[in-house]
Amino acid sequence: MTTTSPVRLYNTLSRSVETLHPLSPSQVKLYCCGPTVYNFAHVGNLRTYLFEDLLARTLRAAGYQLSHVMNITDVGHLVSDADSGEDKMLVAMRREGRKSAEIAEFYSNIFFEDCAKLNIIRPDVVCNATAHIPEMIALIQRLEKNGCTYVAGGNVYFDVHSISDYGKLARLDLSKLEAGARIEIDAHKKNPHDFVLWFTKSKFENQELQWESPWGRGYPGWHIECSAMSMKHLGEEFDIHCGGVDHISVHHTNEIAQSEGATGKPWVNIWMHGGFLVNENKEKMAKSAGGFIGMKDLIEKGIDPVAYRLMCLSAHYKMPLAFSWEILSGAAQTLEKLKRAVLVLKAEAQGSTAGGMSSAASEIRAKFFDCFFNDLNAPQALAVMWGALSEKSISAAERLALILDFDCILGLGAAGWREQVDEVPAQVRQLVSERDNARQAKDWKQSDLLRDQIKALGYTVVDFPDGGKARKLAS
Ligand code: AMP
Ligand code: ZN
Repeated sequence: MTTTSPVRLYNTLSRSVETLHPLSPSQVKLYCCGPTVYNFAHVGNLRTYLFEDLLARTLRAAGYQLSHVMNITDVGHLVSDADSGEDKMLVAMRREGRKSAEIAEFYSNIFFEDCAKLNIIRPDVVCNATAHIPEMIALIQRLEKNGCTYVAGGNVYFDVHSISDYGKLARLDLSKLEAGARIEIDAHKKNPHDFVLWFTKSKFENQELQWESPWGRGYPGWHIECSAMSMKHLGEEFDIHCGGVDHISVHHTNEIAQSEGATGKPWVNIWMHGGFLVNENKEKMAKSAGGFIGMKDLIEKGIDPVAYRLMCLSAHYKMPLAFSWEILSGAAQTLEKLKRAVLVLKAEAQGSTAGGMSSAASEIRAKFFDCFFNDLNAPQALAVMWGALSEKSISAAERLALILDFDCILGLGAAGWREQVDEVPAQVRQLVSERDNARQAKDWKQSDLLRDQIKALGYTVVDFPDGGKARKLAS
C-alpha cells in the first residue's frame, strides 16, 4: 500500500483550511474548468492553470494517485457568465470567418502549447463539450424528473427554488437578492437566478452549433457541461473542483445546483479558487478589456515563459497578483540567478552522488514539501529552496539532489539546465559586449538598437551587475 502525506487545502465551501480526505484513500479525483477556446489564453487565465498544475503536482508528491480532468468549452459559454450575450464561439466565427470546430481546434492546440511552455502537465483527461451533448441531455432529463426544471419561451431553465441550498458556495441569500433584483433581461425566468440548461428558441437561430434534443433543436448552457463531463469522467461524487475566483458566484454555484439537484447527494468535497492576475490599477486582466497579454507577447519580448511560472510561484495562489513587465523581468533575472546557482552546483557535484540523505538534508526536504502540503504555500517553499542552495552544512551533491527533488512541484525544469555560454555565437557575444558599452555610456538608443540586432539573431539579453548575458529565445 502506498503511504500518503496529509495535505491541507483551503475549501471555499467551508471558508477554512481542511485536511484532504479523498473518497478512496490513495486516489484523488480532481476536476478543473478549462478554457473557452474562442481566443488565445491571456497570462491571467494561465495563472489559474499554473495554480491547478501546482495542486496536481503537490497531490502526486504527497503520494496520491491522481485523476485530473479538464474540459474544453467549445460551445455554450455566452459573453456574460450568465445567460446574456452571444456564444463566445460565434463571436470568434464571425471575427475569423472560420467554422467553430476549426476555431476550437486552433485555440486548443495553442492553449496546450502555451501550457507546455510553462511546464504545466497536461491533465489525464481533456474533454470537449461538443463531444458530450448526449450526457448533458441525460443530466437535464434527470433534473426534469426531479422537478428542478421548467420550459419557458422554448428554453429549459433550472429553477433555483427547487433545491433548498442554492448559492451555498457563494453564500448567496436569495430572498435578499431577489428583493433588490433589477428587472431581469430574460422575461421567461421565474426567478432572476434561474439559468438556462438548454437553449432552443435562442436569439441566434441560424448558428452552426445546434443539436437535436427532447426540447427541440438547440444547444446547452455553459454550466451543464462541467456537471455532465466531470460526472462522466470522475463519478457522481469526487474530491476537488477548481477554477478562478470569478467562477464562485455564477458558474460553480450553478454547477453545484445542477449536480446535486440531479443526484440528491453532495457532489464535491473541496472547492479551490485561484486569485486574479491584475494590472497595475488592480483590475482583473480580461479579454474583454482588449490588449491582453499572452505567451506570444512574452516570447516576442525575449522572456523565458518559465520566468512567468516563477513569478506566479512568488505569490500565494489565492492572493491577487499584479502583472507588469518590470515585475516579470525581475522574475526573469531571479530565474537566471537560480539557473546559475544550480549550474555551479552541477559543476561542483560532478561525479559525486548524494548517497543516503543526511538528517540536515531530510529536514530541509520535509520543510519544503510541508509548505506545499499546507495549502500550496509556494512563496514559503521558494524561501526554503533558496536556503537549501546556500546551506553549506550539506554537500553540493546533496544540495543538487534536493533542488532537483523540489522541482517535481516547482516545475522550473532544473534537470535540463545546462551551461550555455559556449553555445552563444561569437557574433552575438560581440553585440552583447557593444551593448554593455552603450549602456555604460547611457546611450539607450544604441543599446535598444543592439538589443534588436541580438533578437534578430534569435537571442535575448538578461542584464546582470557584471554585464549582459545572451540567452537563446524560446521558439
Ligand atoms: P475562460 O477561458 O474565460 O473560461 O477562463 C479560463 C480560466 O481563467 C477560468 O478559470 C477563469 O476563472 C480564469 N481567469 C480569467 N481571468 C483571470 C485573471 N485575470 N486571473 C486569473 N484567472 C483568470
Ligand atoms: Zn466549469
